[in-house]
Amino acid sequence: MSNLFKNILWAVLALIFVALLFSLFMTPAKQPQTLSLNQLTTDINSGQVTQIMVNGNDLAIKMKNGSSAIAEKETESGISETLKNLGVSSTAMQSVDFQVQNQSGWAFWMNLLIPTVLPLLIIGFIFWMMFRSSRAGANQAFNFGRSNLHLSNFKDKVMFTDVAGLKEAKEELIEVVDFLKNPKKFMDLGARIPRGILLMGPPGTGKTLVARAVAGESNVPFFYISASEFVEMFVGVGASRTRDAFATAKRAAPAILFIDEIDAVGRQRGAGLGGGNDEREQTLNQILVEMDGFDRDTRVIILAATNRPDILDPALLRPGRFDRRVILDLPDLNDREAILKIHAQGKILEKDVDLRKVAVRTPGFSGADLANLMNEAAIIAARRNKKAAGQDELFEASEKIILGPERKSRVISPKEKEITAYHEAGHALVAAAVKDADPVQKVSIVSRGFAGGYTMKLPMEDQHLKTRQQFLADLAMMMGGYASEKLTFGDVSTGASNDLKEATNLARQLVTRYGMSDMGPMTFGKTEELLFLGREISTEKNYSEKVAAEIDEQVRAFLMHAFEMAQKILKAQKPALTKIATVLMEKETLEHDDFYNLLKPFKIKPIAA
Ligand code: ADP
Ligand code: MG
Ligand code: ZN
Repeated sequence: MSNLFKNILWAVLALIFVALLFSLFMTPAKQPQTLSLNQLTTDINSGQVTQIMVNGNDLAIKMKNGSSAIAEKETESGISETLKNLGVSSTAMQSVDFQVQNQSGWAFWMNLLIPTVLPLLIIGFIFWMMFRSSRAGANQAFNFGRSNLHLSNFKDKVMFTDVAGLKEAKEELIEVVDFLKNPKKFMDLGARIPRGILLMGPPGTGKTLVARAVAGESNVPFFYISASEFVEMFVGVGASRTRDAFATAKRAAPAILFIDEIDAVGRQRGAGLGGGNDEREQTLNQILVEMDGFDRDTRVIILAATNRPDILDPALLRPGRFDRRVILDLPDLNDREAILKIHAQGKILEKDVDLRKVAVRTPGFSGADLANLMNEAAIIAARRNKKAAGQDELFEASEKIILGPERKSRVISPKEKEITAYHEAGHALVAAAVKDADPVQKVSIVSRGFAGGYTMKLPMEDQHLKTRQQFLADLAMMMGGYASEKLTFGDVSTGASNDLKEATNLARQLVTRYGMSDMGPMTFGKTEELLFLGREISTEKNYSEKVAAEIDEQVRAFLMHAFEMAQKILKAQKPALTKIATVLMEKETLEHDDFYNLLKPFKIKPIAA
């Protein structure tokens, strides 16, 4: 709008300017007197004329008294001839200064054109400017409805070999690529081709990556759009963008259309979460319409990715739409190692690094986290002025990602250091002394992030199931710090608060979720979880106050048992506890091997928790 006003203002200003220019040029300088040739003759003879400028047939005359006049001669004859014929004496002629100006064509035309054509040009230019800017505006308006389709213009080509793990996803997608390459094979068997494939999994598990690999593997046009681009300021834009995206893909068929982050538009209509958004619903409806509108043999396959399949509108998941669903899980141990290998390419690592050991230490890491880890390791190595990143840097990077950067500079008093050392030694020793506990990978009293110190214990391989015994061992180990402080100093510190919080949570889950308490095989409370984000959104209490009291009692029993276990172990192994704490105060960090070597002389026999 303001653009239009600006244009109008400019036009008005320009017109005023032109008008001014003209009034300047056109001011009639005092109109000189026009003389007849006879009169001119008389004037020359009487010596009043000093100069005559001849310009074609025009004569510009200057008088002795300073005034000027004009006259016109006949075309056929020259000026002197004409004057002579009219009876100008030759002496009078000589007193007049004749100047013949041969007017060039250029000057002549300029004289003619400037007053007539120039204003036209200026006005034309103004109109052109206005037109141009308004046309640009109109183009922008058109573009609102255009989807920003990126035609497989990913900078570097990704192939399936660049994707580690994700076996099921790859198999499914290889089939799709195969279909696009030879549809006949499938059609002959009467197979209906999948219309839509939904990739779902936690953030960073490689959904976008695997889709890009499909683009790299299949030699068909691959259109990419992020659903969040659909939803912009103006209502109706999303729907028209969708239409446009599908039309473009259809025109290019066989083709793949990839809609990333489809949850941005695909959430359940009227679900209330995030408030009703007409725009989103219209876009979603349009997607549904487009997917239904495909003919049986339209060779366009829609890929979509989301990490919130739980909120997707059920209509999207109906057969004929996204009827194939591929789940991308967090990578397991082997996959983590493979992912690390892929991202080790192009990084300079020391020869003896064992990526498996890094994989062991990174359960729960997504592909993106692992890629990040490799990069962090390289950065840490550079900061240490090393030529290559070693095992140390890789471990350091993993801890930095889990716990935050080391805070070596934090000043702690000797007393605090002692408390932390005994606290962590307590955790580690209990872990080493109960059956079914995971091995200790590292003990440290260097503070990291919010943690004062930490004991890292991890299973050597991935666990999908966990037993009651393992949970009991976990609980005892969590209590190790608290128990150690109490045993050593006769007092406890705030350093144990996080342990207690986590232990309490775990104990409660044992009772309410896993049926592992004396209350029997039963769950309590209805919990809704965000599928891939592992967060609980609500817990509904579906039991009586009496049952609630009983649950609390059971939770308490678990915790007390764990505490007593820890205390028993530490009391029995007091010399080992002191040893570990002393070494920790001195060295600050103990790796897996150092730790178990330190314990050897004490010949600890693990007991059941
Ligand atoms: P999302 O699932 O959130 O779309 P991305 O595909 O964007 O995750 O993954 C982010 C990055 O993580 C990728 O660019 C890649 O570097 C890395 N990555 C994730 N999964 C894998 C994998 N399976 N193999 C190799 N690299 C992976
Ligand atoms: Mg993604
Ligand atoms: Zn602790």
